[in-house]
Amino acid sequence: MIIANWKANGSLLSNQKWCKFFIENCPKEIISNIGIAPSALHIGQIKKLLESSDVKIGIQDIDAEGGPRTGSICGEMAADTGCDFTLIGHSERRILFKEKNVLLKQKIESAYQANLQPILCIGETLEENEQGNTMDILKSQIEEAISNITIKEGFTVAYEPVWAIGTGNTPKPNDINVIHEFIKDVVQSQSLDDVVPSVLYGGSIHESNSEDFFTEKNIDGGLIGGASLDAKEFLKIVNIYSRLITQ
Ligand code: PEP
Repeated sequence: MIIANWKANGSLLSNQKWCKFFIENCPKEIISNIGIAPSALHIGQIKKLLESSDVKIGIQDIDAEGGPRTGSICGEMAADTGCDFTLIGHSERRILFKEKNVLLKQKIESAYQANLQPILCIGETLEENEQGNTMDILKSQIEEAISNITIKEGFTVAYEPVWAIGTGNTPKPNDINVIHEFIKDVVQSQSLDDVVPSVLYGGSIHESNSEDFFTEKNIDGGLIGGASLDAKEFLKIVNIYSRLITQ
């Protein structure tokens, strides 16, 4: 799967242009493997603009609960608006909003209750990476977020090294492949039903490097921030992914 994470970007006009270009140019056979996570305010608009397609729509975050929590959006509301999935634990949520693994676990449970597919984002900081702690950090992020939860078939993890997001610095594709294999093992060993997750890579994916990532065995797709804001550039990445998975 390839997911566009628009973060706090977009407007009614720019979204309209993006969707028109996307729908006219996205290969039909791949469209159900594409997800778009616009701002929560724009989900209804994007749903409408893309209603004739099988593209998946997601929300970038949900609160763990609904009710008296001013400013929040809960899983049921996102599902009611037509979302298929929710990102959980993006590093910007962890860093800027101080979200901890214990809260992310509640969010995963809430997503399942609302019938939303949770996409758990994990990743180490530059300092953790340089100290050689990547695997330990990822293991604890996963274990604390999914222990004793019945995760379902299709559970997805997005591995996004914090130091690769929006920086142009990326790990070597082969190194990511090894990390993804590790993530699959950790999730599987936590899963009560032996579920093996899909693992997406995120962090400075562009047209020029995407083929190197997507040809790796354990990289099941990508979570794309900056390069997804331009429909043309996003489509180039989608086309590369499409060619590789239909080969
Ligand atoms: C992201 O924030 O999820 C992301 C991958 O961003 P970028 O592609 O801009 O590095």
